[in-house]
Amino acid sequence: MKVSFPHMGTSHIAFKHLIEHLGHEAVVPPNPSKRTLSLGVQHSPEFACIPFKILLGSYLEVLEQGTDMIISSGGVGPCRAGIYGLLHEKILKSLGYDFEMLIFEPPLRGVGDFISKIGRVIKPGGVGWIEFIRVFKITWKKLLALDETEILSHRIRPYEITKGETSRIFDQCLYLIDQAQTQGEIEEAKIESERKLNAIKQKEGYTPLKVGIIGEIYVVLEPFINLDIEKTFGEMGVETHRSIYLTDWTRDNTVFDGEKNIKKAAEPHLNQLIGGHGINSIGETILYAKNGFDGVVQLAPFTCIPEIVAKSILPEVSKKFNIPVMTIFLDEQTGKAGVQTRVEAFVDLLEHKRRGKGA
Ligand code: SF4
Repeated sequence: MKVSFPHMGTSHIAFKHLIEHLGHEAVVPPNPSKRTLSLGVQHSPEFACIPFKILLGSYLEVLEQGTDMIISSGGVGPCRAGIYGLLHEKILKSLGYDFEMLIFEPPLRGVGDFISKIGRVIKPGGVGWIEFIRVFKITWKKLLALDETEILSHRIRPYEITKGETSRIFDQCLYLIDQAQTQGEIEEAKIESERKLNAIKQKEGYTPLKVGIIGEIYVVLEPFINLDIEKTFGEMGVETHRSIYLTDWTRDNTVFDGEKNIKKAAEPHLNQLIGGHGINSIGETILYAKNGFDGVVQLAPFTCIPEIVAKSILPEVSKKFNIPVMTIFLDEQTGKAGVQTRVEAFVDLLEHKRRGKGA
């Protein structure tokens, strides 16, 4: 069976491993491109947010390659994400594609349903539950290795002497992790990746500005949609710290110290569930300010209600905690040059603020 899944940052490397070791052919979604976006826009309702459009475009690309099953995730809370899987399925089937869409809801919403869906994936490949657990553990280790390597690359990029070197080495690290098949090999690939990244020639006696990246999960994780904002900052000598990684546990807890703390920090300003990462955007901004960050960038899909609500509260948070916040709304009209200009202006402002502090 040909099985595919959404493209989200570097996670496709781990999901490819999972699908192949469950006895299927993995159809790896191509890196999102202008074509992906244009296919998605063409067949989506106009009001849909950009993650919906990119995912739809990506599904169309894998269906063109004969995919039999697409695995996706559902969502909870008052946000459209919860119905997106069903809507994608309806649109794709109305276009004549014959395939199965398997939408995994969070397990706590229905353990039985979750387990029976796993069964739908593993049975056709002839894999038993014990083997599934073994493969899943290796996949998780791969996801952790991918996230940890990426975190390190964002720390090193602002110090690089040769512009672009960190990104070049990071691509080599992804290849190493992709090739690793066992827990031991993944560990070795991770250690080798750290060695390669740490060997990059770095500026000495340099203290970069530090910027926290917050917002909706898909636009934060997928560089094609956020126009490679972390790389842009990094190559300007600014260190970024991303609030979300797919394996939440790899999150740098020196800043947030757990999800509970984020909610607690947000509570005086927002204490209701608004879906997506709305509450997190408030709490994380406060924690970034308390941890000495110079600024925060909120990445928000155009028409995303949770992030619009968060944006309306952020000016008061920014003022109270004395931290500049820049919101970038992203949709199919957003261009790299425009974002680059805004990033440059924001960095100028942060430098000015830091000099002011020194004086
Ligand atoms: S959180 Fe925002 S962008 Fe994500 S699905 Fe919900 S409305 Fe769309």
